[in-house]
Amino acid sequence: MKQTCKKCKSTQFWKLNDGRLKCKQCYNRFAPNKNLTKISRKLLKQIISEFVLEHSTNIILERVNISKYKLLKILTLLRIEMTKDIPEMFSGIVEVEMKHIWEDNGKIKD
Ligand SMILES: [Zn+2]
Repeated sequence: MKQTCKKCKSTQFWKLNDGRLKCKQCYNRFAPNKNLTKISRKLLKQIISEFVLEHSTNIILERVNISKYKLLKILTLLRIEMTKDIPEMFSGIVEVEMKHIWEDNGKIKD
């Protein structure tokens, strides 16, 4: 299955440092399709919500109709994607807080 942009259906991309793709047409950024294409969106959504609730693999297996091999593979991919996102999120928060501290210090000095 060839990778296409979800927004404009373009097939030309730049590859970003974090492994995501950036569309050359509309500059949309997204994670490339890996082996997740064989699983339905509904099922994937269900797995992600179970995973976020920190349910164990066996509990997820009972609730979702999927093979253990496939589930473990998806969970590994999810973890990789999540660790990629977290540092960006934190750096955003830290920057905001640092700015506040800076402004507060400035007020005290005045
Ligand atoms: Zn696009």
